[in-house]
Amino acid sequence: MSGKAFFIDTTVCIGCRGCQVACKQWNQLPATKTENWGNYQNPKDLSYYTYKVVRFQEHIGPDSKPVWYFFPDQCRHCLEPACKEAADEVVRGGIVIDDQTGAVLYTDKLKKVNAEDITESCPFNIPKAQKGTGRLAKCTMCVDRVHHGLLPACVKTCPTGAMNFGDREKMVALAKKRLREVKSKHPNAVVTGLDDLRVFYLLVDKPKKYYRFASVDIAPRGMDRKMALRKIGKSLKELSKESKIVRRMVG
Ligand code: SF4
Ligand code: SF4
Ligand code: SF4
Repeated sequence: MSGKAFFIDTTVCIGCRGCQVACKQWNQLPATKTENWGNYQNPKDLSYYTYKVVRFQEHIGPDSKPVWYFFPDQCRHCLEPACKEAADEVVRGGIVIDDQTGAVLYTDKLKKVNAEDITESCPFNIPKAQKGTGRLAKCTMCVDRVHHGLLPACVKTCPTGAMNFGDREKMVALAKKRLREVKSKHPNAVVTGLDDLRVFYLLVDKPKKYYRFASVDIAPRGMDRKMALRKIGKSLKELSKESKIVRRMVG
């Protein structure tokens, strides 16, 4: 399998949000009004104008001292993207996969698709619609930079080496190496996404303790529960149409 991938090593993430700011700057995304919601994380979620957000969670560590879990959240550029599958049902080319990198990209044709169908399809709660227009946006893998041999803006800016990017095979190898290194200190450590995504996270605790959608169970062939239900619904509609046709033919 070729293309690119991110390896995000949360064990060295310090929550500085340099990646979040770099993403805004490179993509020329405006600042948005924020609110104090009792957490240092800011803003509260991804949006049409925010493709990357560093999520903050405070827990009590094994030595009874507070610990912070940081989770730099972004599109996982799934190998079999549920968002693309949903879009393809309405219009081909609304969501495309970049040949060179494997990045999942949204195009202008996507405006023909109901935004909610796309946002609902994503198991990681990533795509966000613009209020008023319903247009959708998310991380682009900075393909405009990567196609010119540059690193994604978030990776280039990360001061600690938490954000890594390169050929997918190399990122898989790096993720496995780091997992082996941290296992003695953190026996519960895991790397998420190695089989089906282009963004892997090294986490030292249960993914849910970082963020509700940090990792989701994706069944074989990239299908989660939402996708399965949607497929069942589609098949039932088709069956109903077919049954009307057959009845007409025999009637
Ligand atoms: Fe699509 Fe969501 Fe996968 Fe990104 S994470 S490619 S938005 S399904
Ligand atoms: Fe933002 Fe580019 Fe990083 Fe995606 S790859 S989160 S668009 S800076
Ligand atoms: Fe973490 Fe690096 Fe982002 Fe800072 S720039 S929040 S260290 S991933």
